[in-house]
Amino acid sequence: MVLWKPKETPLTSVRYLLEVGLCSLCGSCIAACSWGAAYFDFGRPSQVFLEDKLCVNCSRCLIVCPQAMLWVRPDLYRVAAKPVSVLHARSKDERISSIAQDGGTITSMVVSALEKKIIDAAILAGTMGRWTPKPTLALTPRDALECAKSKYFYIPSLLKLGRDADAERIMIVGLPCQIRAVERLAELGVGMTHKVTYKLGLLCSHNVDYESMTMKLMMQRGINADRIVKMDIKGKLLLHDVDNKVYEIPLSTYEKLVRPSCHQCPEFLSSFSDINVGSRGALNGWNTVLVMNERGEKLFNEVADALETKQAEERVIHEVYKTDKRKKERAAEFFRDFYGSEVGGSFLDNETLRVISRGRT
Ligand SMILES: Cc1cc2nc3c(=O)[nH]c(=O)nc-3n(C[C@H](O)[C@H](O)[C@H](O)COP(=O)(O)OP(=O)(O)OC[C@H]3O[C@@H](n4cnc5c(N)ncnc54)[C@H](O)[C@@H]3O)c2cc1C
Ligand code: SF4
Ligand code: SF4
Ligand code: SF4
Repeated sequence: MVLWKPKETPLTSVRYLLEVGLCSLCGSCIAACSWGAAYFDFGRPSQVFLEDKLCVNCSRCLIVCPQAMLWVRPDLYRVAAKPVSVLHARSKDERISSIAQDGGTITSMVVSALEKKIIDAAILAGTMGRWTPKPTLALTPRDALECAKSKYFYIPSLLKLGRDADAERIMIVGLPCQIRAVERLAELGVGMTHKVTYKLGLLCSHNVDYESMTMKLMMQRGINADRIVKMDIKGKLLLHDVDNKVYEIPLSTYEKLVRPSCHQCPEFLSSFSDINVGSRGALNGWNTVLVMNERGEKLFNEVADALETKQAEERVIHEVYKTDKRKKERAAEFFRDFYGSEVGGSFLDNETLRVISRGRT
């Protein structure tokens, strides 16, 4: 990947975004390309590939790209989405909490929604041998269990939306860039997007690609990816191995590998999801849950019996929104430094500050 300082807006082609590191591998361009010109290669899972011979220059890939979208509608991030309620939750099911990332709230919600037939499928980010990304259409609770845990690298799960499948009501679990891409895919009526009934967002500070994680952060330090069973970020990047040994890598080392796509990303929490889930502000083994709208509230009430919950303190929403504000400020700074553009200034206005000073609404 060649990184250089662009002088103009990146709205020329997806190829350009890929070349300058502005891709966060959400998978939506792959779903949107009806000609098979944009594709994912499981043998080289750090990026999207484009096949010139198949490309008809229709620009669908660019239209659905959540990174290009920042230029088209920067105003969308100006008004901070206000949660309907904020709480802490964790799974009541030990089978889930023992294998999940934090409280297992996401996996519990997916499993419960599948068991109660509230949804027919969920699009999740799984892995196979050596942590290879495995975009997954989970049709059973077992499929969902196999996708538990955070992978701190890109997984293009949205490519699963491109093809039709025997599922009418689909839940998406994704990072904020993926959730915002779903909006664009829906506008184009791609594949199964009209069947998306619920969107669950994960709080996200930054991310790296598969190769950076496995080669630069693991292999170059003599860490065998096959023996790593869990990765986490708690002040440091923590890699837990099968014998309970924990490798600690300074966050600054991880951050050096973060692509420009994540530096320009203005969302810590997703403005477009029905529910956002993370660990920020929660005790170990718990999640912070921000229910964002009525649809999210309805879903949460329907699966609540699978979860133990407690009210979040006022400081938690302050913490989450302050981090979101910081991310928007950094994104605006990035737009200035990288593109020489003030477009990123639109990511932040007084509305966000008002939410922070008001606390829970
Ligand atoms: C790259 C990344 C950065 C994050 N940054 C933060 C942060 O800064 N602050 C914070 O509070 N929380 C962050 N999170 C969220 C946090 O790590 C947990 O995912 C969240 O608390 C849910 O926990 P859980 O126990 O409910 O998850 P689980 O029940 O274990 O479920 C995890 C779900 O996450 C999905 N998933 C895993 N990896 C990925 C991926 N790479 N891309 C898309 N989906 C994925 C899987 O489909 C799975 O369904 C981040 C997550 C990721 C993947
Ligand atoms: S321009 Fe059209 S054909 Fe070419 S990669 Fe993008 S979506 Fe596919
Ligand atoms: S961010 Fe998503 S849509 Fe944009 S180039 Fe990367 S994979 Fe394709
Ligand atoms: S920081 Fe933004 S662009 Fe990067 S993975 Fe997270 S949500 Fe996607």
